[in-house]
Amino acid sequence: MGELAALFAPERVAVVGATDREGSVGRAITENLLADFEGTVVPVNPKREEVLGRPCVSSLAEADADLAVVVVPPSVAVEVVREAGENGIDNVVVITAGFGETGSDGAAREEELRAVAEEYGLNLVGPNSLGVLSTRRGMNATFGPDNALAGNMSFMSQSGAFITAVLDWANDQGIGFKDVVSLGNKAVLDEADFVNEWGDDPETDVIIGYLEGIEEGRQFIDTAREVTKDTPVVLVKSGRTDAGAQAASSHTGTLAGSEQAYETGLDQAGVIRADSVQELFDAARVLESQPLPDNDNVAIITNAGGPGVMSTDAVGDSRLGMASFSEETLDAFSKSLPEEGNIYNPVDIVGDADNERFAEALDVALADENVGCALVLSCPTAVLDYEQLARDTVTLQKEHDKPVAACFMGGARVDEAAGVLGEAGIPNYFDPARAIEGLDALVRFKELSTREYDDPTTFDVDREAAREILGRAAERDEPRLGVEAMDLLDAYGIPTPEGGIATDPTEALDLAQPIEGDVVMKIVSPDILHKSDIGGVRVGVPNEEVYDAYEDLITRARNYQPDAEILGVQVQEMVDLDSGVETIVGMNRDPQFGPLMMFGLGGIFVEVLEDTTFRVAPVTETEAAEMTGEIDAAPLLRGARGRDPVDVDTVAETIQRLSQLVTDFPAILELDINPLVAMPDGAQAVDVRLTVDLDELERPAEPTESETDKPLTEPDQ
Ligand code: ADP
Ligand code: MG
Repeated sequence: MGELAALFAPERVAVVGATDREGSVGRAITENLLADFEGTVVPVNPKREEVLGRPCVSSLAEADADLAVVVVPPSVAVEVVREAGENGIDNVVVITAGFGETGSDGAAREEELRAVAEEYGLNLVGPNSLGVLSTRRGMNATFGPDNALAGNMSFMSQSGAFITAVLDWANDQGIGFKDVVSLGNKAVLDEADFVNEWGDDPETDVIIGYLEGIEEGRQFIDTAREVTKDTPVVLVKSGRTDAGAQAASSHTGTLAGSEQAYETGLDQAGVIRADSVQELFDAARVLESQPLPDNDNVAIITNAGGPGVMSTDAVGDSRLGMASFSEETLDAFSKSLPEEGNIYNPVDIVGDADNERFAEALDVALADENVGCALVLSCPTAVLDYEQLARDTVTLQKEHDKPVAACFMGGARVDEAAGVLGEAGIPNYFDPARAIEGLDALVRFKELSTREYDDPTTFDVDREAAREILGRAAERDEPRLGVEAMDLLDAYGIPTPEGGIATDPTEALDLAQPIEGDVVMKIVSPDILHKSDIGGVRVGVPNEEVYDAYEDLITRARNYQPDAEILGVQVQEMVDLDSGVETIVGMNRDPQFGPLMMFGLGGIFVEVLEDTTFRVAPVTETEAAEMTGEIDAAPLLRGARGRDPVDVDTVAETIQRLSQLVTDFPAILELDINPLVAMPDGAQAVDVRLTVDLDELERPAEPTESETDKPLTEPDQ
C-alpha cells in the first residue's frame, strides 16, 4: 500500500475536541467512531474526565495515537496540529473550518497550518473537512449521519455535504466503498495524493471523485497517468459552465481555471470524466465489477423490436460498434429462432420468447469471438420470468467472462431481477442508452489504460537568445509583443520567412531588395492587435512600391489611433498561401494546468471558425501528431480535392518547439502564431503575438535541468 495507508488503517484514533454535547461535531465524530471501529478511540479533552463513557486524556501527548482527528475551534487548531507533530502522530484530519474559505485571516491561518504540517512531515487532510472513513476496519471518522457499506471503490470529494448525500443513497443501492475522504481545503493532501495512494491499494478497484478544482494540474496529470494504467479514475469536475465556475470559486475559494484546461488535462491524465452524478456511478459500477472487453463490438439480444432500435442508436452515439456475427453464430440463430425473428444484430428473438430461447441466444452470441460484450434487452411478457432471465444472465456472463449490460424494462416487476443482477455486478437500467453507456465506459477505460505516454522531445534551442529578446520587452516596459519578436521563434528553431523591421521607407527598401519576388509589409505596433483589420498588412508589394507602401501603412495606423506607439514596418518574404493551409499554434497559461497549447485552423477568421484542439504542455511527439489529426479541417491538411498534402510533421514539430519555449519561459502568458502556414514542403510562421508577465521577467531565472547540464550558448542545429 501507499504512504497514506496508516491514515486509513490506524490502530488508535484520538479525537481532539471530543465531547458529549448534543448536536456538536465533536460528539458526532466520537459516536461514529465508537459505533463500528475495530481499533481504539481516545477522546482528548482537558475539561472532561470521560466522553460517551470513554476515559478522556487531556492532551495528544498522552493519547499514543496514530491518527488525530481535530475538532477544536480554529484559534487553537494549528497548535493542536503542532502537538500531533511533536508527539509523532503523522496522520491528522482537520475537521475545523474557518481557514482559507473565510477570508484573509483564515488564509493566514491555513498558511500556518501548512507550515506546521511541512515541518513535521504530516499527512494532513483538510481543514474544513467532513472527515475520513475506511470500511475495512469500520473506521468512520466523519461527522456524517451514515457509515458506508464495504466495497471496492474509494471516493474523494471536495464537498463534504455531497459525501453525506452519496452515502445515504449508496447505502440504499447497496453500493459500497473502501475509503472515503472529504478533501476540505486541501491545505496539504490533495486529489493527486489520494489518486496515488489508491492506485497502489490492491483493495481499491475504482477511484471516484467530486472535484471543484485541481491544485497542481501538471502534477495531477503525471500521477493519474501512472495510476490509470490499471485502476480506473472517474471524476465529476464541477464548474463546467461559467456560472458553475463562479459558484465553485465562492464555495471553496478554488481558482477555477478554464474549463478548456480541465477538459484537456483530465483527458491527458487518463481520467474518465462524468458530467453528472448519475454518469459517475454508472461508470464506476461497471468498472468495478465487469471485465474489460476484448473488442469494442456489442451484441444486442432482445425480445422487443423498438427498444432494439433505440439501443442500436445508443451504440451509434458511443465508442462501441455493432458486432457482425460469424457464420457459425448465424447458423445457430437460424436453427433456434422463429422465422419472423432477426438473426443479425440486434438479434430479435421475438415477443413470444421464453427463458430458454433467451438464454440460448445469449449463450450463442457471447461464444462468438467477434462479440466483445452484450446487452440483454427485454420487455415484460407473459412467457418470460424476469428473475430466471436475471439468473441466466449472471451465469452466462461468468461463464464467458465478457461484460454484459442489462436493460430489463418495466416497473416493480423488475425489482427482484435487478437485485439478482446487481449482486453479480450487472447494473440494470430502464433506459437502454444508460446500459450502453456503461459498456462504453469499459471500452473507454481499455483505451486509456493501454495508452502509451512518451517523454516530450527536448530540442536543441538557443535559450539565451530567447531570454534576451524577452528581456528587451521588460526594458521597454511593454507586455505586448508582436512581429518584432519574430526572432524568438527563430531561437527555438521555428521556421519564419526572411524579413526585418524598418523604421523608415529607405530602410524598408533595403530590406525588400535582397528578398526574391514581391514582399509583404505589415505595421508593427503593440497597440494594433489585428493588423489586417485596419489595412495594416499589404501582401504582394513589388520593390518599386515599397517606399510608398511604407508611408501608407504608417498613415493608416495614425488614422486608426493617433497616439498608437509605432515601432516601424515589417518587410517579409511572401509565403505561398495557394499551396498551403493557414493554421494557428497558440498557448494560454492556465492558473492550474500551466501552459495550454492550442492547434487549429488559422488565418484572420480563426475566432469565427473555432476549429481547435488543446493539450497541456509539455506536449509529446505523439500528442502533437494527434493534435494535427483532431481538428475538423484535418482533411485539408491531408490534401483534399487533389491538393498536395501539407507537411504535418513540421507542423507537429512546431507545436512541440513552441511547447518547449513556453515551458522554459513561465513569463510568457499567452502566445499565438497565426498563421503558421503549412505547406507541402515545410511550414512558416508569418505572424506572432504574445503577452509577457513583466514582473516574472525581471526576476532572475532559475536554471532548469536542461540548462544545468548543458552549456548555455550551445549552437542551434
Ligand atoms: P494580422 O493577424 O495581425 O492581421 P498577419 O501577419 O497574420 O496579421 O497577416 C494577415 C494575413 O495576411 C495572414 O493570415 C495571411 O493570410 C496574410 N499574410 C501575412 N503575411 C504573409 C506572408 N508573408 N505571405 C503571405 N501571406 C501573408
Ligand atoms: Mg495573424
